[in-house]
Amino acid sequence: MEELPQDRLATIDARGKRVYLYPAVVHGVWKSRKKIVHAILLLVFLLLPWIYVNGRQALLLDVSERSFSIFGLFLRGHDAPLLFFLLIGFALSIAFVTAIWGRVWCGWACPQTVFIESIFRRLETWIEGNSRTRKALDEAPWSFEKIMKKTLKWGAFLAVSLLITHSFLAYFVGSHKILQMILRAPSENWASFLVILFTTGIILLDFGWFREQFCVIMCPYGRFQSVLLDDDSIVVGYDVKRGEPRRGEVAAGAKQGDCVNCLRCVQVCPTGIDIRRGVQLECIACTACIDACDEVMSTIKKPKGLIRYTSENSLRGLATRWMRGRTYVYLSLLSVVGIVFIGLLSQQQSVEISILRAKEAPYQTLPQADGSRIIVNHLIADFSNQSSDNNFMDLRLTDLDKAAGIELVMPIHPLAMAPHEQHRTDFFLRFPSSDLKFGTRKIELDVFRNNQILTKEELSLVGPSQ
Ligand code: SF4
Ligand code: SF4
Repeated sequence: MEELPQDRLATIDARGKRVYLYPAVVHGVWKSRKKIVHAILLLVFLLLPWIYVNGRQALLLDVSERSFSIFGLFLRGHDAPLLFFLLIGFALSIAFVTAIWGRVWCGWACPQTVFIESIFRRLETWIEGNSRTRKALDEAPWSFEKIMKKTLKWGAFLAVSLLITHSFLAYFVGSHKILQMILRAPSENWASFLVILFTTGIILLDFGWFREQFCVIMCPYGRFQSVLLDDDSIVVGYDVKRGEPRRGEVAAGAKQGDCVNCLRCVQVCPTGIDIRRGVQLECIACTACIDACDEVMSTIKKPKGLIRYTSENSLRGLATRWMRGRTYVYLSLLSVVGIVFIGLLSQQQSVEISILRAKEAPYQTLPQADGSRIIVNHLIADFSNQSSDNNFMDLRLTDLDKAAGIELVMPIHPLAMAPHEQHRTDFFLRFPSSDLKFGTRKIELDVFRNNQILTKEELSLVGPSQ
């Protein structure tokens, strides 16, 4: 393998065309650890949509219904402040973790890394062979063997992509709905079928072909690395003091560093970079070069760790500070967000109710036989049962309003609500026109839950001015 070009990415040739990478397989301590972590993550990804907490899918982000079930916490669209603080908390946690442990997410937990390393590249190696054989196969003219291998590989990729798509969408539409969709013919639900087809296509293209290009060109988190990391963040780094001058760059008889310039670290890199050129934006901290170099160091009887998890400061011989200005700021902000979130959560009602006026005419006038007039207001009550219990909801007038001749007509009451159910019901308020002095009158409705008063809702009766 030759040295990488200095003036461009290894994944782009002199004419600006993509250079397809064939990273070599590597074995080592970090690879073994990652295999275990990836296996656990894959299991969680596949099983989580089938785990239920309090009768609801443990993690369900139903965007179309604007309802979000997060490990027992149930939020709806009108819980926007809670969702906002949840997202801010998530973003701050990522910033905090990145400031301390660098791109640990990219190397260990990002779906792009987990799926490509654990499934797609492994399938590719089983079917087409090691990196050299794969490169030779791609460069060879089309033959029966090549067609067979490519068909088998892309068929396997397609099967895995379909599984990933269904599991992924189960987090957004629900695992049981996904199962129903699978059992039905596509013609019964074209829209869902096309969404599944489209998502599968994207996954197939990304994990099967686009790969490191996504990390290098498109990933927004990757773009933020330069601001999230500092010299105390843990990165995968090359020990220049120990490694240089590398073999081949030193005059005969002069002292040589530990790097034997074998380029093994470059051969195994999935983003095609040379870590010896310093920490780079393209490095996803996958640890492949650590294992590769440790293997070389073992062979030449030198201590391992020429490439290792370290910080820029540590490589300069300085102490690594875990807690520093930015980590204190992130932690303080996280604490504030956490306190606000808990405060908002504690104020959340077990049943939310909102009362709206119906869209048609604000009131109707019904003339009576005795010449008087009855006014009818049409309203809509929106109940949202946030709790995991069945609740019976009711609306009642105060005694004072009843005495004034106001009548409440609600088709079903009390209204039975299953856990986390949302229900909208029409109701009518009838009252003599004499109740209105200036075309309006304020009243209070008692909202009952399981025969206990829960809250009071103030609303205005409207009608013609007297
Ligand atoms: S694997 Fe180690 S010894 Fe080989 S080139 Fe990379 S840093 Fe040098
Ligand atoms: S430089 Fe090393 S850690 Fe970074 S992406 Fe390449 S192989 Fe992975």
